[in-house]
Amino acid sequence: MSIRSTVLLKCSLAEFRERVSAMYPRAALQEGLEDFCRHLLNAQEYFDCDLRGPVPRNTEKTGRFHIEGKVFYKHNKERVVVELLEMLDQKDEDVIPYYATAEGKDSFTGLLNKKACTEYVTDTLAADEDIHYLAMIDIDNFKNINDTHGHMFGDQVIARVASIINSTLNGRGIAGRFGGDEFFIFTSWIATETQLRAVLTSIRKRVQNTFEDQGCKVTLSIGVSRAPADGSTYQDLFRKADKCLYLAKNKGKNRYVIYEEDKHGNLEEDERSFRHTMDPLEKAEYLSGTVADMSLRLFAEGAKPMEEILDQLRTAFEIDGVRIYRSGQQKPLYISGDYTLVPDMYSFVAQDELAGQLNHPHYLIASHVGNLEGVNRKLYETLKDSKVKGLLCFCFPDRTGSNLYFFYEVFNHRPPFPESDKNALLTISKIMAGIL
Ligand code: GH3
Ligand code: MG
Repeated sequence: MSIRSTVLLKCSLAEFRERVSAMYPRAALQEGLEDFCRHLLNAQEYFDCDLRGPVPRNTEKTGRFHIEGKVFYKHNKERVVVELLEMLDQKDEDVIPYYATAEGKDSFTGLLNKKACTEYVTDTLAADEDIHYLAMIDIDNFKNINDTHGHMFGDQVIARVASIINSTLNGRGIAGRFGGDEFFIFTSWIATETQLRAVLTSIRKRVQNTFEDQGCKVTLSIGVSRAPADGSTYQDLFRKADKCLYLAKNKGKNRYVIYEEDKHGNLEEDERSFRHTMDPLEKAEYLSGTVADMSLRLFAEGAKPMEEILDQLRTAFEIDGVRIYRSGQQKPLYISGDYTLVPDMYSFVAQDELAGQLNHPHYLIASHVGNLEGVNRKLYETLKDSKVKGLLCFCFPDRTGSNLYFFYEVFNHRPPFPESDKNALLTISKIMAGIL
């Protein structure tokens, strides 16, 4: 329907050919289909072809399509063919953007969904250079609200917050729900920060007042960025607003933080949060591809690219520091990251003391260093003094049989370590141990 349409069909090429050819009224039309399938299977770079096929939403009719294709290769060298289908006899005005369709709405609140918001912002930024504010809004302590008043009440809160945001905005932009208790605003026709502050304050007050009568305190934290001053792409603006939301939470919640270059300008951290903007499958594919590429390099080049690989690992997995120690040695074999004070690990690795204390055969996880307090007080204090907030530690023998310790640490932001990240880091650590 438009180049931004959702997936229509997901199946093997053979199934696709069968389904489409069944729709053709005459055998002669199948030549185009065969040609198209041949390109899908064999094309090496670019191709184009014409195809006659059923018109979307009106399968009775056939229309002519022009196809331009391009071949890409993924990290794992798998071939991906991407094509643009242009319907030759369709008029431009028939193309409905995704955000204007029913699929673009969050079914529970009626606000736009995340994909629709993203596309709306992208289109708007491409079309004008006016001032727009992008705000990320998250309900504070929503888990508590659910736990205390029940999930049904939680749902009412979400619905009510959505309608307050929408009615306060009153057509001066779009409102969306990114899932859970997270909302989104992108304004138009709000030209000054004073006007924006008035809108945000009004939303916060109305939300608070609505639920106060019901004996429940509902507050919001909000992060804001501005176009074109803070960025000209969705990604730039989202990252900055998201960082401000995180700061608003950190400063005690129930407030908004508007991005200011001087105050919040250190974007090194933001560079790493690009993963927040990927969907989970894309993210998993990206990370496993990264680990596979690193492994191939280690197999081919041995320890030579180690430093570069550790830097890449930090970026890809949003980790602040990586250290590798060999048992019995005082100094780390490798160290990557900006440690204010490198934790002194000698006493832990000198006699392999740490190996005996791992909570799994090969690893120790402390998503929050505080959790170590009761497990290994000395380690807890050493890490705490160095401002390490969370860590993953793996231990694998090197080729000679002496133990290598891998520490992946965070000290600048919330410790993440989702399960899939742990597995990927475990794999790459074992491979590194094999070549060191
Ligand atoms: P914070 O102040 O840091 O935001 O804390 P929080 O408790 O709000 O934490 P977070 O935003 O991470 O939690 C969102 C919770 O919202 C998690 C989930 O249990 C709940 N939730 C997600 N979607 C829905 C929903 O549709 N209905 C209800 N009732 N709860 C939901
Ligand atoms: Mg929340």
